[in-house]
Amino acid sequence: MKTCIATVSISGDFSEKLAAIADAGFDGIEIFEQDFISFDLSPSDVSKMVRDHGLDIMLFQPFRDFEGLPEGPLRRRSFTRAERKFELMNQLGTELMLVCSSVHPESLGGIDRCAEDFAELGDIARGFGVRVGYEALAWGRQIHDHRDAWEVVRRADHECIGLILDSFHSLSRGIDPESIRRIPGDKIFFVQLADAPLIEMDFLFWSRHFRNMPGEGDLDLPAFMKAVMATDYKGPISLEIFNDQFRRGNAPLVANDGHRSLINLMDSVRRDLGENAGAVAAQLPRLPDKAKISDVAFIEFATRPEEREGFEDLFRHLGFQLTGHHKTKAVSRWQQGGLNLLVDTEPTGYAAEAVAEHGTTVTDIGFVVDDAAAAHARALALGAANFVQTVAEGEAQIPTIKGVGHSVIRLIDPGMDIWRSDFVDTGTADAPALMSHIDHIAQTMGYDEMLSWALFYTTIFDTLKSPLFDVVDPDGLIKSQVIRTEDRVLHLTLNGSDAPYTRASQFLSSVRGPAVQHIAFATNDIFALAERLRNLEFEILPQTRNYYDDVLARFDLDLDFLERLKAHNIMYDEDETGRYLQLFSRTIDNGLFFEFVQRESGYTGFGAPNAPFRLAAQRRAAERTPIPAAG
Ligand code: MG
Repeated sequence: MKTCIATVSISGDFSEKLAAIADAGFDGIEIFEQDFISFDLSPSDVSKMVRDHGLDIMLFQPFRDFEGLPEGPLRRRSFTRAERKFELMNQLGTELMLVCSSVHPESLGGIDRCAEDFAELGDIARGFGVRVGYEALAWGRQIHDHRDAWEVVRRADHECIGLILDSFHSLSRGIDPESIRRIPGDKIFFVQLADAPLIEMDFLFWSRHFRNMPGEGDLDLPAFMKAVMATDYKGPISLEIFNDQFRRGNAPLVANDGHRSLINLMDSVRRDLGENAGAVAAQLPRLPDKAKISDVAFIEFATRPEEREGFEDLFRHLGFQLTGHHKTKAVSRWQQGGLNLLVDTEPTGYAAEAVAEHGTTVTDIGFVVDDAAAAHARALALGAANFVQTVAEGEAQIPTIKGVGHSVIRLIDPGMDIWRSDFVDTGTADAPALMSHIDHIAQTMGYDEMLSWALFYTTIFDTLKSPLFDVVDPDGLIKSQVIRTEDRVLHLTLNGSDAPYTRASQFLSSVRGPAVQHIAFATNDIFALAERLRNLEFEILPQTRNYYDDVLARFDLDLDFLERLKAHNIMYDEDETGRYLQLFSRTIDNGLFFEFVQRESGYTGFGAPNAPFRLAAQRRAAERTPIPAAG
């Protein structure tokens, strides 16, 4: 099955678009007339340029306000206009034109009138050796439903006239995609896909500004595609994404995301169809299963050699114990129960480069997955960047992909013992562990990268995403998106902000790029943990008396319990299912900080109501002591 993308989906001038589209692996483009008109080359030169990139022009669009006009000059002019475009298509070397349903104020509509117009247009198209596909716009004046557009095409009964389906136009109006199954596949000339977040707004505005890649929004694209596959449609699958953010975004990133989203969608459709996959669906990409993350094997921080001692002290204050050194690298292992933090002070290599660029930062996250080789293969098939490092003899060669910013993601098999193969034991973690696992890893990035990384995590790994929500910072809004494993043990929170002075934006500018900003450790006894951290002289972020007065006003807590929260600077939240207790470190170095959480019963949030107070407390703490020494 061929993949295609509309040039309007990508930023840049025409040649930049083509380069990004070709590099991402698409087979062809939908050429937008505007792109072409604003480009100073002849149609045949444009055609050559597209083909030099290894791409086909699969569709020419849009042709507007054609059908249903009253007899007279207006109607005649629309046919003349079409002829000019057919000539242009011949020069461009493309044979399919999209006609979208009319919004012309003088259009009379009428299924038979429209069908007659298309039958006549079909005769002209045949003369030019081209075909015409009819698309129902969600805001079309008379035709705004693919079932009506299909009826027009059916009655036109012309070999050069077919239907074009666009998932946005059908799903945004709530039209049941099952109705597509009644259309013969050979009369569907082209299929366009776009997802979109569910927002109540005018169809035209929604479509022109908020479309996004399949899997990035809330529309049921798999149901739409399964219905398309049932018709035995054999044509290309194309992305037509109008999105303000993409139009000003990074062209290669958007093109890669598009290709990733298509491959992932087709893989999931093929899986859903299973035995019922027809001949066409059986040719869809076959990817290994999504990787199931069962644990975080380790998190590795890189820092400058001169900062190693201070950083390791921080881990000591957190109750971690030094238990090993890497056999051949300047990497130490700090352990607490099943938790492993690594400190990397290698003077050269990718970690050193990351430190030179960003300062102290998380460079590696090790995920234990069900099958590391399969996870790696899936990630590469979805366009993730491979990361290869030479290792010494006997050391584990861990399948690795590039992650957010300068970080990498290590994919580790459950049976793999990297501590034995790569590390020398120097001690045992014999202190009782008060932290049980990592509850969440929070990564901060530009707001315009959030969709991209959410797509990355949800297509490669077996994870679910929650809707975006706003966190109120004293200096603006921070957008937050949660990706989680099905068992809710591990969460990845993606945070981004457009406002320049939020903590998220300041973190981005201080570390010069996206990175892990905080790590939250889970505990079963936050009071015991707070006591331990206090004894270890770990600095907890202080909260205000007013905060606890507000907690008392909001929740039905007994006063002794409230006093205990206050004594330990523990923040409190609850929902209908359970309680959430959380405490924070000050920002340590470079904006990094730690969180400690106790989830009770079925609480699924992250203490969002507390975030504004935490952010304000961090700002106060940072203003008083700019960058506190480790611990
Ligand atoms: Mg369309």
